[in-house]
Amino acid sequence: MTITERKQILKHAFPRLDDDALHTLATAARQETYPTGEVLCAQGEPGQTLYVLIAGKTAVYVETDEGNNVMVNTGQPHDYFGEMALLVEGTVRSATIRAQTDCTVLAIDRKPFLQIADQNPALLRHLAVQLTDHLRNNDRLVIHELRQKNRAIKQTYADLAAQEQMRREFVTTLSHELRTPLTSIQGYLQLINKGMIQGESLPVALDSVTRNVEKMVAMTNNLLVLYEMQLTTLEFSQITIADLVVKVVRQVHDTPDYAHATISLEMGAQLPKLYGDEAGLTLALHALIENGVKFSPYDAAVRVRVQQVGQEIRLEVIDKGIGIPAEEQTHIFEPFYRLEHSQKSEVKLFAGIGIGLSIAKFIVERHNGRIEVTSTPNEGSTFTICLPL
Ligand code: ADP
Repeated sequence: MTITERKQILKHAFPRLDDDALHTLATAARQETYPTGEVLCAQGEPGQTLYVLIAGKTAVYVETDEGNNVMVNTGQPHDYFGEMALLVEGTVRSATIRAQTDCTVLAIDRKPFLQIADQNPALLRHLAVQLTDHLRNNDRLVIHELRQKNRAIKQTYADLAAQEQMRREFVTTLSHELRTPLTSIQGYLQLINKGMIQGESLPVALDSVTRNVEKMVAMTNNLLVLYEMQLTTLEFSQITIADLVVKVVRQVHDTPDYAHATISLEMGAQLPKLYGDEAGLTLALHALIENGVKFSPYDAAVRVRVQQVGQEIRLEVIDKGIGIPAEEQTHIFEPFYRLEHSQKSEVKLFAGIGIGLSIAKFIVERHNGRIEVTSTPNEGSTFTICLPL
């Protein structure tokens, strides 16, 4: 690079220097190259050189007290850096400059620079202003970065605390849900073993044991579905919706706790076939109908309405049960979320571990469908599955 070219670059960086001064600096400058990734100045190390970038891009990092490297600036051709070393004797670099791409620089050492600076107070002022700006900017960015990290850490702690709370509630619910049938099974088996249940009572006792085992198997299966559903692929086929709905209603009736339920069916005529995963949709509809019965008074009927609306099939489950407050309606689709938890009620009135709706939502969304709820506390709820045809 010729002296004239160097002078042009230096003039760009220090516009107030006269031709003589630029000439002296250009003559004193060394041209250096740094491959991508190489460090030009390292924070904390002594430095006696000012750099003017001719070509390439640099990044400026400041290491915080915690040892984090925060990128506070980038450098373009004509920018200069390392000026503090020239102004303050014996000082160390306040930031690390790294080549972001291959870089070419003019390096000017302290001695020739100070000779010129002595005759050009404007140059010193210019550098002092730049230096203050750099330091202020670095501080501002480091503080901003630290604040952001602080916020992220606080959020992570809050998330962890919420997860821990949910985990505890889940373990409590699960142990309750397991202990109740197990205690019953244990009681019956002890009596049978001691020969205290015989004759006509024996089939009744065994029936109760069987029902409780079935309850636990169903719950374990649901838990497995929740954990495996991300991994399994759905199996799509043409489904006759009416058959599916009737099958699910029968399943719910087959559950001894819900055998009493009145479930009425309203089905549009000539419903088209639906392309979907039968096992998955069975689970989803089962969860809605079971909830409808579970969260309703003993003798209240649950309506299931199926109709085609435009290019969608709508499956509605309508109950006149306890309802769900508006602020809870989005949460109930989260795994393990139960109103009984959020309302911190001591008594567990309703069976369940809070996964039916999350399974239903997951399956419906895998069909590109939606699941919606409208509900009024003490009046009832309507859950709707909308599936595209
Ligand atoms: P589970 O019924 O096992 O608790 P779900 O995931 O099916 O789990 O439902 C989550 C929660 O949503 C329930 O615990 C209940 O608080 C609320 N919920 C669901 N369906 C209804 C409904 N039909 N009426 C009132 N609350 C409901």
